[in-house]
Amino acid sequence: MKLIDGKKVAAEMKQEIAAQVAKIKEQGGKTPHLAAVLVGHDGGSETYVNFKIKDCNEVGFKSSLVRFEDDVTEEDLLAKVDELNNDADIDGFIVQLPLPAHIREQKVIEAIDPKKDVDGFHPENVGRMVIGLPSFVSATPFGIVELLKRYGIETSGKNCVIVGRSNIVGRPLSILMSQKTSNCTVTVAHSRTKNLEELCRSADILIAAIGSPEFVRENMVKEGAVVIDVGTTRVKSDKTKSGFKLKGDVKFDEVAEKCTFITPVPGGVGPMTRVSLLNNTLLAATNKIYS
Ligand code: NAP
Repeated sequence: MKLIDGKKVAAEMKQEIAAQVAKIKEQGGKTPHLAAVLVGHDGGSETYVNFKIKDCNEVGFKSSLVRFEDDVTEEDLLAKVDELNNDADIDGFIVQLPLPAHIREQKVIEAIDPKKDVDGFHPENVGRMVIGLPSFVSATPFGIVELLKRYGIETSGKNCVIVGRSNIVGRPLSILMSQKTSNCTVTVAHSRTKNLEELCRSADILIAAIGSPEFVRENMVKEGAVVIDVGTTRVKSDKTKSGFKLKGDVKFDEVAEKCTFITPVPGGVGPMTRVSLLNNTLLAATNKIYS
């Protein structure tokens, strides 16, 4: 079994991005600028946004944080999105999800200029991705494909089973893995899937994006499979300072022995998600997608 070290690959990618930013600056170009909009004070969202800002600083990007209280109106939030769309200094921005229930998330996503949609959630980017046009691809699916590529894992002709069909992970990943760049035969499973265990056992590449700690057990994995664990659920722990720890969707100790490759949680997919947002911001700043 070989551990897929997402932390290490993400650090390498960060260095590559930082080198490109340094070159842009040397040549008198504009510093890439990512903005994040954060509504309310959800602990998870605060953490994610803080990471995003820290990551920007590390690679030499400029970053801005726009904060609203929970009771911001949809109208005010949309006005800010419009302002960011028209701010020439900002190359890309994200609106951290989830939003409070009184705000229509899809309305906000669709208000973002696709050229600045570095989360890759706008229908225009999703549609472009589906038909293989240059697009901003959402960070987690992009990060997983990159991880497989950088570990030289053969995907062509392989059976790939993805458990989870969300718009941000499972669904876009299923499209990427089936495209001619990966050439997998893909099955997407979800909560209504029958014979899930048997289906998972047919996978050469098994990707779990469920949000259910240690859901994937040894009996669901084929000998020699590649297992990618996307899940990150906070579970209570008296062994950490924060009082919780992250658990993946895969029962690692049990499953690892059967795998050729496996991602850990933490340190697998998570760091790749973070660096993929930086990658998209650099693509936006250098007009690589919509030129
Ligand atoms: P989500 O929107 O809740 O989707 C979960 C998917 O899992 C759904 O499609 C659901 O099926 C399916 N599912 C739930 N229970 C199932 C079961 N018993 N059997 C089969 N399928 C089942 O979650 P998400 O946003 O995709 O995230 C999934 C996990 O990945 C979460 O733990 C999240 O925190 C984590 N995540 C990690 C990263 C990272 O960077 N590491 C990034 C994004 C997400 P239905 O569609 O039928 O409901």
